[in-house]
Amino acid sequence: MTPDRRTFLIGSSLAVAGLAFGAQARKPQQQRGTRLILLGTKGGPTLGLTGRSNSATLLLINDIPYVVDCGYGVSRQLISAGVSLDRLRYIFITHHHSDHNLEYGPLIYNAWVAKQPPRIDAYGPIGLEKLTRDFFNYMKFDIDTRIVDEGLADPRRLVTVHEFASAGLVMQNKDVKVRSLRVRHPPIRESYAYRFDTGDRSIVISGDTAYAPELAKFAENADVLVHEAMYLPAIDKLTRQFAAAPRLREHLLAAHTSTEDVGRIAAQAHVKTLVLSHFVPGNDPEITDEQWAEGVRKYFNGRVIVGKDLMEV
Ligand SMILES: [Zn+2]
Ligand SMILES: [Zn+2]
Repeated sequence: MTPDRRTFLIGSSLAVAGLAFGAQARKPQQQRGTRLILLGTKGGPTLGLTGRSNSATLLLINDIPYVVDCGYGVSRQLISAGVSLDRLRYIFITHHHSDHNLEYGPLIYNAWVAKQPPRIDAYGPIGLEKLTRDFFNYMKFDIDTRIVDEGLADPRRLVTVHEFASAGLVMQNKDVKVRSLRVRHPPIRESYAYRFDTGDRSIVISGDTAYAPELAKFAENADVLVHEAMYLPAIDKLTRQFAAAPRLREHLLAAHTSTEDVGRIAAQAHVKTLVLSHFVPGNDPEITDEQWAEGVRKYFNGRVIVGKDLMEV
């Protein structure tokens, strides 16, 4: 058996195992409704050392996966969450920092070799079309070889890219309405939050942003707000450790939201549940859950969850 053939078979059997697991583990009525699962909760481009994978969030709406951001590790995290990759259907990118898109192409690729999902729709700001095209060019030799050798469909035809340059309605189907809001993440201008309104829940994902009062309006009365979080005392500790840190600190403060300000946004928005994710710094095991939550609690009296990878909310 050639390595290529083996890879293909492993992919197929994984997909079959996933389907079998799904059939046994979930009763039909449990597939209805909206589930939210954190796939990766670390902020920033470096790899997680503390059990946090890079940024990615999953919504299962009537059992259809909607993946928001594709940080490194998203394919593996999806499998760990019980979603076989041949089920991949919708992808949303908040902005084009690598901790949100590094595994965008590879996720599509992994779904393709898993069992060729019938169709993938990808949504995101300007640049997504080029990113998609460039990824397929990057993998052209392998893709063209497998199409001939293994009879796979052309993955370039599996993906439909929907690029946008302003906020508003992103997509709508019978299960969900998705809207976007431009947030504050300098120097990147094309950075968006997403709001998913389904039959049973409303869920907002902040993406990367500095304190943005308009986000409170956008998230008004949502059941769940998943918001990025920055812990200032740890940033100050970092500043003392590295020569380049003052510049990094300046960037972080201009582009991300302190836990206190996250609390303000959640309070202004009157959300039921606030989930902290995209932790900055994301690699400091000394920061306790209580420390992440204490700034938030100064302003927000609702339910606060300090996110963990593969946690379902
Ligand atoms: Zn980020
Ligand atoms: Zn970013």
